[in-house]
Parts: sequence; structure tokens; C-alpha cells
Amino acid sequence: MTGRKRFKVEAADALASLQDGLSRHVTPCQRAPKLWTDGTAEDAVLAAEMCQRCPVLRECGDYAKAARERWHVWGGKDRDCLRTGGGAMSGNGGMSA
Ligand code: SF4
Repeated sequence: MTGRKRFKVEAADALASLQDGLSRHVTPCQRAPKLWTDGTAEDAVLAAEMCQRCPVLRECGDYAKAARERWHVWGGKDRDCLRTGGGAMSGNGGMSA
């Protein structure tokens, strides 16, 4: 399997796991999504903290890592490449990402 194909398979598998979790739980970001996507740097820090109480924290972080998400807060980490300098992530996720 090529690297690109492996990336797609891993991202699809991680997305399926995340979607399964989201079908069974209400997450903090579902209640105030703009905090995760359209907020300031301070909002992103707050969102990342709120992620720590999310029932799908691990699945979300695994998906973001597999899909190489570069925008918004996922899995307890600010992945916005403009805020984080193009790759380094802030937040205290405790995730493997
Ligand atoms: S861990 Fe993911 S699903 Fe949970 S609140 Fe954070 S961004 Fe939303």
C-alpha cells in the first residue's frame, strides 16, 4: 500500500470511529461550535480545555492526527496552523497526536 493510500485508509478508519462515538454522545463542541472554529486564540484555549471532558476525546484526536487536520480545535488541541506556526500544536490534550 502506498503512503497516500495508507493515509486515506487510516483517516477513514479514524473518522468512522469518531462518527460512531458522535452518534452516541453529545460533545461540548456541539453545544457551542463557533468556539472551536471561529474564535480567537483565547477561545481556542478554552475550547481545548473543554475537550478534556469530551466522551470522544481520544477518537477525535486520533482522527485529527490521521487526517492531518490543520484548522480549528480537535481532540483537545489547537491545530490552526496559522496560530501554531504551521504544525506545532498548542493545548494540553494528552492525546497521542
Ligand atoms: S474532543 Fe473533538 S468532539 Fe470532543 S469537544 Fe473536542 S473537538 Fe469536539
